[in-house]
Amino acid sequence: MSYAISGECCADASCVAVCPMNSIHPAPGEPGFGTGASLFIDPRTCIDCGACADICPVDAAQPADRSAPDDVERNAAYFADRVPLDGLDLDAWEPPSYETWGGGPRRVLVVGAGPAGMYATRELLLRTTAEVTLVDRFDRVGGLVRFGVAPDHPRTKQIISTFERIVQHPRVRWRPRTEAAGLTGYDAVIHAVGAYESRRLGYPGECTAEEFVAWYNGRPGATLPVDLTGPRAVVVGNGNVALDLARLLLSDERRLNAMDVSPEVRRTLATSGIKEVVLLGRRGPEEAAYTQSALEELLATAGDRVDLRYHARATGWTEEGLRLDTGETIAAGNLFSAIGFAGRPIDGLPFDAERGIVPNVRGAVVDRPGHYVAGWIKRGARGGIGVNKACAQETVMTLVSSSRGAVSPGS
Ligand SMILES: Cc1cc2nc3c(=O)[nH]c(=O)nc-3n(C[C@H](O)[C@H](O)[C@H](O)COP(=O)(O)OP(=O)(O)OC[C@H]3O[C@@H](n4cnc5c(N)ncnc54)[C@H](O)[C@@H]3O)c2cc1C
Repeated sequence: MSYAISGECCADASCVAVCPMNSIHPAPGEPGFGTGASLFIDPRTCIDCGACADICPVDAAQPADRSAPDDVERNAAYFADRVPLDGLDLDAWEPPSYETWGGGPRRVLVVGAGPAGMYATRELLLRTTAEVTLVDRFDRVGGLVRFGVAPDHPRTKQIISTFERIVQHPRVRWRPRTEAAGLTGYDAVIHAVGAYESRRLGYPGECTAEEFVAWYNGRPGATLPVDLTGPRAVVVGNGNVALDLARLLLSDERRLNAMDVSPEVRRTLATSGIKEVVLLGRRGPEEAAYTQSALEELLATAGDRVDLRYHARATGWTEEGLRLDTGETIAAGNLFSAIGFAGRPIDGLPFDAERGIVPNVRGAVVDRPGHYVAGWIKRGARGGIGVNKACAQETVMTLVSSSRGAVSPGS
């Protein structure tokens, strides 16, 4: 499924900036923009991330299956005679456009090859003459798109192939399985290391979203820390990640067979004892962080085996199950928590432990000239893939307009 824009479109183009695939046109500067006509989404390249719908001020961007057939048709028709663009096509890029650095190419280190690091790299290539060294602790690009996004959302994961093309650029030196410590001699460092540490309830036997998601997505070294005994599991949390967990736990063999997961993951989920999932939120449904489309997907997958509970907090986990502040105990064999993610401190940089971010002003790390942040470590663990595009652009803009001296990561 893709998204489509209706005739209600106000053409303020905020969706153009956040679309990770450059699927929305006409963009500012293109023929037809600013003429009062609507913008359109190319269904051939849309990865269904929903960034346009989140930011649209007039709710004109909607999933195609909830749009009027005429709108879906108009969006597709606009692109019928146009070659698909993905905005990351190296051949189509403009020449470097910043003069602010003067002289020859500068060396920039980008730490982290998730969406924020990839968009920052792209922006540096597009707008400057910089040589970019891109490092990641893992051997492949993608970050949480690879190791977070659920395996039954293959369309969303498609963006990884465009990220893979960025590292082929002659001005990019891609160093997988590398951490920043010890790398020196860069004019600027962009830390795009994400915020992947799960917040915990703190009960023994709890399986966090980070642990479960890393396991089913095959992150190197990740194992399932619990046996899936069931027959009932409680998932504490009311965001889209909590719904991902519930959907995966309740997927039948047919759904599992269609997913790109390892045989071990498929077998473990298919034979798990979990037959029912209770989703627990401390606030009401109207305040839940999940999106309506994620809820509909869960209910379509296993609506008869999902129990949505609201207005209750967990107070303890025992052999009988999860104790609540209402006095009730939910009998359950497994406890999962999906109550948010936070960043980790980075050596040599200030850290805001409460927000789990590196304090910054438009991406420039406070009191650490030459150091910048982008993505979740800059703004906190919120927002989908597309939001990181505008976020990384802001950081690169800040970087090129600041004066710099040579720095070493962690110095
Ligand atoms: C479970 C889950 C599911 C999600 N599903 C969706 C979805 O379906 N659709 C959607 O739009 N958004 C989804 N999101 C949100 C999306 O994944 C984030 O917006 C995005 O990944 C954040 O990008 P980032 O680059 O800041 O961080 P990350 O994606 O976490 O990338 C950070 C990168 O830095 C690397 N790194 C970390 N520390 C170091 C170090 N010291 N040295 C070198 N490298 C390092 C990591 O290996 C990683 O590759 C999901 C998030 C989660 C947690």
